[in-house]
Amino acid sequence: MRAQCQCGQLTVELPGPSPAVVACHCIACQRRSGSPFGVLAYYPEELLAVAGEGKRFERATDEGNRFETVFCPECGSTVYARTAKHPSMIGSPWALSPILLSQLPFALFGRNRCITG
Ligand SMILES: [Zn+2]
Ligand SMILES: [Zn+2]
Repeated sequence: MRAQCQCGQLTVELPGPSPAVVACHCIACQRRSGSPFGVLAYYPEELLAVAGEGKRFERATDEGNRFETVFCPECGSTVYARTAKHPSMIGSPWALSPILLSQLPFALFGRNRCITG
């Protein structure tokens, strides 16, 4: 099962259903995703295999942690993300892999605080 960017240059192999699908509708996640919710499917890092070239963007979260997204420098899609709060977990956007769409997010969070950070 593969999550990939628009142009296909940057990919993440996913092992299967995610143990934690998180939806956040804080302003930063809306800006990142361009949609009402930023939804990430998290996995332990060692279960994922990343291929291709990614560019990193890091921001502070409302809780004072750091949140990093990695996106394709060619087409701009975010392909994975990580929060300093849970550094051993990597999140891949929910909609990038068809199988993840069958998993409903388990959490929704408030507009002014980021659940992923
Ligand atoms: Zn791309
Ligand atoms: Zn958020």
